[in-house]
Amino acid sequence: MPKKIVIVGGVAGGATAAARLRRLDEDCTIILLERGPDISFANCGLPYHIGGEITRRKKLILQTPNSLGRRFALDIRTRHEAIAIDRAAKTIRARDLESGREYDEPYDSLILSPGAEPIRPPLPGVDHARVRTLRNLGDMDQIKQLVDDGAQTALVVGGGFIGLELAESLRHRGLDVTLVELLPQVMPPLDSEMAAPLHIELERAGVKLLLGDAVTEFDGQGEQHVAVTLRSGTTLTVDLVALAVGVRPESNLARDAGLELNQRGAIIVDDRMRTSDPSIYAVGDAVEVADAVLGGPVMIPLAGPANRQARIAADNICGRSSRYRGTQGTSILRVFNQTAALTGLSEKTLKQRGTAYHKVYIQTKHHVGYFPGGRQLLIKLLFAKETGRVLGAQIVGPEGVDKRIDVLALAVQTGMTVGQLEQVELAYAPPFGAAKDPINIAGFVATNLLRGDIECVYAEELDAAARADWTIVDLRQASELTSGGIPGAISIPLPELRERWGEIPRDKPIALCCTTGQRSYYAYRTLKQKGVACKNLMGGLTVFYYTHAGGPEVASWPAPPKCGA
Ligand code: FAD
Repeated sequence: MPKKIVIVGGVAGGATAAARLRRLDEDCTIILLERGPDISFANCGLPYHIGGEITRRKKLILQTPNSLGRRFALDIRTRHEAIAIDRAAKTIRARDLESGREYDEPYDSLILSPGAEPIRPPLPGVDHARVRTLRNLGDMDQIKQLVDDGAQTALVVGGGFIGLELAESLRHRGLDVTLVELLPQVMPPLDSEMAAPLHIELERAGVKLLLGDAVTEFDGQGEQHVAVTLRSGTTLTVDLVALAVGVRPESNLARDAGLELNQRGAIIVDDRMRTSDPSIYAVGDAVEVADAVLGGPVMIPLAGPANRQARIAADNICGRSSRYRGTQGTSILRVFNQTAALTGLSEKTLKQRGTAYHKVYIQTKHHVGYFPGGRQLLIKLLFAKETGRVLGAQIVGPEGVDKRIDVLALAVQTGMTVGQLEQVELAYAPPFGAAKDPINIAGFVATNLLRGDIECVYAEELDAAARADWTIVDLRQASELTSGGIPGAISIPLPELRERWGEIPRDKPIALCCTTGQRSYYAYRTLKQKGVACKNLMGGLTVFYYTHAGGPEVASWPAPPKCGA
């Protein structure tokens, strides 16, 4: 008997699973139930249509029910909601949302890919028509309509991926945009000092940032405006509110069917994407998976994992033995002229998990400096203390971020060490990279640290309270000192060090600094060989600024460092 497979959800995971099933089994019956009117649309592209970069709406519809159904012989039922599963009878109850008719559909295997819904905090006034969330084409149309109809001011609530993409898109459309974020930083998966350049970029682009604050109330001011009150007491009136405060797995169907869920409501699956019922698979934003780096459960709602998991579920239903290796959270985001990307574990996660790690920062151009257009990258590399295994990386810069994060994502995935990064052979010609690519340089710096060729002090160890215990030597040229620096530092430009090193007092530990940490590393090597104990400020004054941004340590600086200059 040919198998009958029912899929719930027809976008990233659901549509991928359906197509894969058909490629593996020409005879099975595949029924796809999708509650909304569309399937297989590009949710990741939605903010860019609002912003006007993707001009034609229909480009976002990758397949229609008709085109996908015909190509893969699928029975696609849009506007059909799955409302209950009878696991004993192996049937799923569906409701036709047009007619209201309900019916039971038998299955041999079931795949759940219901995704995650935007969280709407239960705040007074949250149901106002101008307080919107963004998940599907209908949501996008409504936000875009408000902008097309003349909205001039917007509040974006939440500084994660979707909030930042919306802030950028709404600015592109000329709106006056304010972004409020509960945490003291945007893009929470990044470590705070790596988010600091994004704050600078958002403000440069005209987004008003309200960090460490939260909405407490919305109040309709007629139909055209929303008055918003924040926890700090700040009030503002805007034409549009975009809520982007996170997502919650859509797992009611699974819960009601008695499938095992975690505490946050995500469906628990094994590495074949099987739920606690072996006939039911689940994939995508609704599931908990393994952390690919250190193991343990994680929930990371991203399109790539959803697609790969769907393929694995389909493989297993068709008798193949495919296994999901886990998710490492590789992601990337454009924020106006900057790009931020990460893979693997962040420093804050490593701390939470009690894992021993080292970190290094590298600042270098994305291609050779002598070829026009080279832009500075800031790379943070995290690696295991004993073995040097790469555990995570974060990169911010205007160009070349995507290439480096993808290389580092593979390094994390394959368990490479920082020593192996020294040896990585990457494509090079002057417009594209450097004979010593930023990835190689990250490997050199990290390996120097592991081998003891450099000792470091970190920006957080040199805050105002701790600084009195250090002698700080600034190796920059005198002309650079006007751009800010650590108060009380002794200035000895690097070219003068061999003549003047005797001036450095030895009664306290010595910290060496320059803009990026490169010249101070050269100074470290010189001084070390002369028998002077010292440490290099890792990441230089740039990372010092980002670490202490907004604090007294950098209050006297005339301007932030130019990220990507
Ligand atoms: P979805 O693609 O959300 O599909 C779930 C579908 O199931 C929905 O259409 C829903 O209507 C349907 N459904 C739910 N319950 C039922 C039911 N009971 N009956 C019938 N149908 C049901 N990820 C990235 O990696 N990079 C990005 O740049 C990126 N940008 C994004 C931008 C936006 C605005 C959004 C919303 C998401 C973005 N994502 C991005 C996340 C990515 O889209 C998701 O991780 C991915 O779509 C998850 O796939 P899924 O199949 O689990 O859920």
